[in-house]
Amino acid sequence: MNSFKELELRPQILRGVDEAGFEKPFPIQQLAIGPLLAGHDIIGQAKTGSGKTAAFGLPMLQAIDTARNEVQALVLAPTRELAVQIRDEISRLGAYTGVSVLAIYGGQSINVQLDHLRRGVHVVVGTPGRVIDHLKRGTLDFRKTKFVVLDEADTMLDMGFIEDIEFILDSIPPGRQMSLFSATMPQRIMDIAARHMKNPEKILVSADEPQSDELEQYYAVTGYDDKFQTLVDILETERPASAIIFTRTKYGAHKMARELQKRYFNAVPLHGDLSQNQRDHSMRLFRDAKADILVATDVASRGLDISQVEAVINYDVPEDPLLYFHRVGRTARAGDTGKAFTLVSGDEQSDFERILSLSKAAINPLRKQDAEHKFYIPAKTTITQVQNSRYGGGGGRRGGYRGGGYRGGNRGGGGGNGSRRGGYRGNGRGGSNRRGGGGGYSSW
Ligand code: AMP
Repeated sequence: MNSFKELELRPQILRGVDEAGFEKPFPIQQLAIGPLLAGHDIIGQAKTGSGKTAAFGLPMLQAIDTARNEVQALVLAPTRELAVQIRDEISRLGAYTGVSVLAIYGGQSINVQLDHLRRGVHVVVGTPGRVIDHLKRGTLDFRKTKFVVLDEADTMLDMGFIEDIEFILDSIPPGRQMSLFSATMPQRIMDIAARHMKNPEKILVSADEPQSDELEQYYAVTGYDDKFQTLVDILETERPASAIIFTRTKYGAHKMARELQKRYFNAVPLHGDLSQNQRDHSMRLFRDAKADILVATDVASRGLDISQVEAVINYDVPEDPLLYFHRVGRTARAGDTGKAFTLVSGDEQSDFERILSLSKAAINPLRKQDAEHKFYIPAKTTITQVQNSRYGGGGGRRGGYRGGGYRGGNRGGGGGNGSRRGGYRGNGRGGSNRRGGGGGYSSW
């Protein structure tokens, strides 16, 4: 879809879109607007910046009958800032529709909100606590509300709003249409969706830039005890100029960075137990190519814009499959090539199977023995992966990993293992100070 005009939106809405300067729908808009206009519930994995406000805002504007002075749509958002931002965006897009939008949040005088509510509004964008205040006072009434959005559901969950959300949803008639947006999809959010939504269509949009076609994805099946050695094998064989290794825990990230340093890899950790200064220091070393490997937890790496990473290694399989796509989206950006490796040990098999079932692109066995391992892949789910849709359905492409012999010198010329150690990319990347001369990472 190349233009908003292809969507069946009223001319007044298209005018607002035009004046906002939107030319082409963003991926989340391409995927979500159609189903929402058709009346479906949707779950969208997308974060702020992806254009999700218009993705739900435009169908919402379309659904509102301005002749009726009732609250017909509700958006719940975790913070006052986000609520205000959403109100502004919907007001701007709906500037020619006559739809009135009110933001209600804690910290603002309730009287101001009451005045607006008395005069009548069509859309309420609110934080859960203040919305409940109004519900309890009887100053807000959702009996005519037919369009509900939970925005940044995971943040609302983290902020302890879950019961408030349930309470609010219970006050809205069942016939409503609902959409839920979240950057991650923890189980409790899926539970809310299961309880309150009707066959929601799931839409996955990478929060990162779309990947190029040049991402190769591999897995290695490994015992828990052999995992670290498998990682070392991959690093030694691949010799990525820059790699991010993801681990589930802060402790794991810290320990691994240290273990890698002991083996003369230039690795730095990034996790939540480090001070801001230490984190900045790690990032600076990595960005300046003075460290080749960043060992990170998901939380610590959230929102970091790190470009040109050659390899992403999932030392642990993420429990939330969507995190897998977040993680691998950090390589093969902007036309560069990249590789993603996932180490799968016995107890992670089912988590990995879910990833396999969601991925449209091929994730191939790294070594011969990995190809022999059988995974049970449930039927493909309905999730639409924007970032992988360009793969054109995957298939055969990267069969087998260089014909086996993964460890031995299959890297033309061979003999590499030893030579790598001496001056691991010493040339051109700040000399061979990686063995402690710089002092930087010895303090970790
Ligand atoms: P959001 O993720 O909804 O906060 O949107 C992020 C930013 O992108 C906002 O400033 C929007 O106004 C802008 N935006 C959303 N959709 C489009 C589009 N199709 N074209 C250009 N800008 C857009």
